[in-house]
Amino acid sequence: MDWSELSATVKWNIQPFIGGRYRPSDSTEVFQNVNPATELSLCDIPNGCAQDIDQAVRVARQRFDDGCWSNVSPFRRMEVLLKLAELITKNKIQLALLDTLEMGKPITASLFDAETFAPGLIRSWAGYADKLMGLAAPINSSTVVLNTYQPRGVIGAITAWNFPVVNAVVKLAPALAAGNAVVLKPSELAPSSALKLAELALEAGLPEGVLNVVPGLGSTVGQALALHPGVDMVSFTGSTGTGRKIMELSGRSNGKPVLLECGGKSPHVVFADIGDIEGVAAATVEGALWNQGQVCSAHTRWLVEEEIADSLVESIVRRASQRQPDDPLKEATIDGPLASPAQRARVKAYVEEGTKSGARAVLRGMIQERGGCYVSPTVFDRVQPHMRIVREEIFGPVLCVQRFSTEEEAVALANGTDYGLEATVWTRDMGRSKRLAHAIKAGGVSIRTSGKQDGEVFVLSQEPQKASGFGVEIGLKGLESYSTLKSISFIGA
Ligand code: NDP
Repeated sequence: MDWSELSATVKWNIQPFIGGRYRPSDSTEVFQNVNPATELSLCDIPNGCAQDIDQAVRVARQRFDDGCWSNVSPFRRMEVLLKLAELITKNKIQLALLDTLEMGKPITASLFDAETFAPGLIRSWAGYADKLMGLAAPINSSTVVLNTYQPRGVIGAITAWNFPVVNAVVKLAPALAAGNAVVLKPSELAPSSALKLAELALEAGLPEGVLNVVPGLGSTVGQALALHPGVDMVSFTGSTGTGRKIMELSGRSNGKPVLLECGGKSPHVVFADIGDIEGVAAATVEGALWNQGQVCSAHTRWLVEEEIADSLVESIVRRASQRQPDDPLKEATIDGPLASPAQRARVKAYVEEGTKSGARAVLRGMIQERGGCYVSPTVFDRVQPHMRIVREEIFGPVLCVQRFSTEEEAVALANGTDYGLEATVWTRDMGRSKRLAHAIKAGGVSIRTSGKQDGEVFVLSQEPQKASGFGVEIGLKGLESYSTLKSISFIGA
């Protein structure tokens, strides 16, 4: 397929989608939607404003209260969500093009997100729609107390740009499956696929006004959504810094509950007993450079037992140096540009900071200054725990290797940052794997003995720890997060 040719046919339409139709934003100010592969503007995006959010929240509130979705049977919700999953797959080409043009994801990766990842997630939550059951406590012959789940109401969802269509689905699918109405604010860098999802949801049978999407800036629409007193909960995916602001905004308004999926600096601990250095290195490089390292759980912090560190680093460098970013519209491209000039500047600053702080750059990436946000991988070895490059989330193709000699040291290093999203332990020692799984403070710990597994999917619920956030989204627990638990007591004859 000639994706460049196809990309010229995209019709850009970025404005609020409220009550089942596009409406002009009340804001007259705009910013540019920049293609990071060329640094040229694709179209204008309205800054958005508090009035846009107010309209969307009012519509969502009215639709929630009239019961058109909150009071239908869970089977109907399941049916609509399954239809939405089907429509997403059907529209995969358009969705993939939008994500690739707006944030530079290689087209085959965007296609995977639209064809498999996002619809798969929706189907999983759709299947839970009728399984959200409470409890009945029979106290005595005349008293029964029921615990029942009810949707929370209007959910404000705010998302990051790194997996545009998937991030949107991760918010709206469990929230809708539980019967809520949603106002979604996608990232300013990649809002179009979320708008397209809202159109498809309508086509799938979702009543108009139950899903509303308001594009714009975090400082305008994002803030207005988190502050709005008509919003019953905010669900946020993004950086830890913004997550903390969201909590503050909730506290300053109606004290709405908040769910935060924030940043990470996931440790990957490799013990010498693993043996298969090449297999580990291949998985390292793949995990670190997936989506150009712009993944919350990116494998960019490697803790390696001294005995095998030289061989593993040599293999990582050899493999990483072969990964050069290219035009994301070519089907053969594995690594595209970073998502924006700001991301490029951020990665550049961290690479300079790492060198200044004394980390050894065993592979130094090339950073293209203009004409596309292309940055090739950097690998730092012998990184010390106090260095910023290993404590802070870089969100780019920069790998850090730390060396350890004992299991205790490995655990201390693994827990040595503010984050607690995910971790991986590479060992063949069962006892050790259990000890580390217990000791590492992370929402998920994966124990590995081999590099590649078919059908590697993450469907189990987990809750981020420490500065990585709190609350659960995946699985049945995700529906619980978007519900409130009510007790109803029947007392007397
Ligand atoms: P940001 O925190 O910069 O932005 C996230 C969202 O918040 C954007 O939509 C942004 O708007 C909005 N926002 C910004 N300021 C405010 C504000 N004051 N009030 C309300 N909303 C605001 O993160 P990025 O978009 O740069 O995404 C990268 C981050 O996301 C990384 O830290 C990554 O780890 C994390 N992430 C976490 C995931 C997880 O599951 N744990 C998954 C994916 C990403 P704007 O459009 O202006 O940017």
